[in-house]
Amino acid sequence: MREGKRILIVGGGAGGAACAARARRLDERARITIFERGPFVSYANCGLPYYVGNVIEKQKSLLVATPEEWLNVEVRTHSEVVDIDRKARILSVEELETGHINRERYDALVLAPGARGARPRLPGVDLAGIFSLQTIPQSEQIRDWIEARKPQRAVVVGAGFAGLEMTENLVKRGLKVTILEMLSQAAPLLDVEMSEPVSRHLESHCIEVLVGEPVAGFEGDAAGVRQVRAESGATFPAELVILAMGVQPDTRLARRANLEIGVSGGIRVDDSLRTSDPNIWAVGDAVQVTDVMAGMQRVAPLAGVAIRQGRIAADSICGRQARFRGVQVTAVCGFFGMTIAMTGATQKTLRRAGISNYQVVYLHPDSHAAYYPEAAPIHLKLIFTVPEGRILGAQAVGEEGVDKRIDVIAMAIQKGATVFDLEESELCYAPQYGAGRDPVNVAGMVAANVLRGDVKLAPWPQLGETGALILDVREPHEYAADHIDGAINVPLSQLRSRLAEFSPDREIWVSCGVGQRSYFASRILAQRGFAVRNLSGGYLTYWGWNP
Ligand code: FAD
Repeated sequence: MREGKRILIVGGGAGGAACAARARRLDERARITIFERGPFVSYANCGLPYYVGNVIEKQKSLLVATPEEWLNVEVRTHSEVVDIDRKARILSVEELETGHINRERYDALVLAPGARGARPRLPGVDLAGIFSLQTIPQSEQIRDWIEARKPQRAVVVGAGFAGLEMTENLVKRGLKVTILEMLSQAAPLLDVEMSEPVSRHLESHCIEVLVGEPVAGFEGDAAGVRQVRAESGATFPAELVILAMGVQPDTRLARRANLEIGVSGGIRVDDSLRTSDPNIWAVGDAVQVTDVMAGMQRVAPLAGVAIRQGRIAADSICGRQARFRGVQVTAVCGFFGMTIAMTGATQKTLRRAGISNYQVVYLHPDSHAAYYPEAAPIHLKLIFTVPEGRILGAQAVGEEGVDKRIDVIAMAIQKGATVFDLEESELCYAPQYGAGRDPVNVAGMVAANVLRGDVKLAPWPQLGETGALILDVREPHEYAADHIDGAINVPLSQLRSRLAEFSPDREIWVSCGVGQRSYFASRILAQRGFAVRNLSGGYLTYWGWNP
């Protein structure tokens, strides 16, 4: 057999390993080498928080595959690629154990160096006991620290998905955890009102969550960190600190090689993942991608994205037509029995992109038929275009069935579906799984009602300044327990007989518990000639806006 092309891959994580696997399937003759700075390739860094928490007990469980054996791929660990001579198509690779530099020629080069955890230049950041979590060796260091030092208190800096996962796992190891978040909400990827159940859930598990609390520095001594100081001056005792402040694309090698970097800070690639050099491809956390919902360039550090890109880069290298179609950002995170999931655009991203022709509905359906035990609400937000009803995004928070609803909507978005498609979608149902009207159907129905003009939505952010009458149609005992400031109570059951109490000249904004009774009331009032709007999602959504 004639000698095949030499494909060199920098980085043996999700993107690099996926690329090697696909390239081997497509080209049996190719000479494929992965260079990896660390001791492992094809490892599951998504599992690292659970390894720290000892949910995953054995390090070897994190090793997804052994590419040497089943792919016939050469793997060189402890080998850092330090330079690219693009003209000569030669890599300089440092053997980290010896310091020796090898020169390696390539026909095709794939950069898959991943991302680096943000590590702020704050006083004391280098104290012992302060960790980021990107790699298996770092997870070992955290485990060792917990086992040797037996810390009682931890501070997690950052309330994003990584911070929430780490919090749960540190609690599993017996630590008391405080989360400090610089931004004004927990789970900052979500729209602000959707994060309220997240904070409440953390607090119910005795986690102190402080938002709007940037860290100013770390204090301690030779033995390690002792406390974290916030910019507010408050101090938080901690013998262990996890920095979970987001990641940045690792573009050091690409910059050194003068490859083009995109506006978002990731390596610029075309839709076949080729960089500005025709012989170099780049994939994964290090590259800039198109957010297809917002039409913006961004980075999207997600394992599935890296794997898809790795496969497409291999297709392209091996002469196949392949196109990466961009990201919509579908993500999920679980902690203490709660799941957060999201797909597509949030209002935050739409605002940034200057897109405003959309509407938003909220609903809180049960995860499965209410009559079957242990149904729990799913707090769901759906964003769609007006007037077409094309789905732009969804966010959900709850204890059960959250991921499956978001996955269904994610697929609907990818197929360009509308809320009318959700309304009509045929989904599986038995009492323990869903409902004859699945939450996805209900989301479609609620949104379609808006687009058909059956109900007008009241804008939640304007609640404080509206001159409209706020009408709460729940039962008196529900109203008495708590209600929107200034709301009057006329229960739905009495509404038809008390219409004379309303002025035809004053708009009415109707609210209830979750938005269903208020919808029924809106229909009654609208058909009697009143100007009426529904406060979508009812009192549970009010909580989100007024925590
Ligand atoms: P990586 O998998 O990070 O691999 C990059 C590799 O390149 C590293 O091993 C690095 O050592 C090596 N490298 C870098 N530079 C060089 C060089 N010059 N020479 C040699 N080697 C080099 N995503 C999800 O979708 N869901 C999750 O639940 C999830 N959880 C996560 C939890 C944690 C703790 C972390 C850290 C990430 C998580 N992610 C999750 C993100 C996901 O792991 C990444 O999106 C994915 O691994 C990116 O793949 P990649 O190939 O681009 O980079």
